[in-house]
Amino acid sequence: MAEDNDSKRAFLGIWFECCNTYGRLYKNAAGTMYTGRCPRCLRPVTVRIGGSGTNRRFFRGR
Ligand SMILES: [Zn+2]
Repeated sequence: MAEDNDSKRAFLGIWFECCNTYGRLYKNAAGTMYTGRCPRCLRPVTVRIGGSGTNRRFFRGR
């Protein structure tokens, strides 16, 4: 949480269910969400930071 604020390369590990592959989402410039794409089908995925249910290290994309 707090240690993420100054980490430019903070990322969230994510399992892309669409292609059964593992990838990463990187924090955006504003630090409000993680954004990335499935490495195989390039489907864009975003995960909000803060609020409820966003502290999981692994997120299952649908
Ligand atoms: Zn995919």
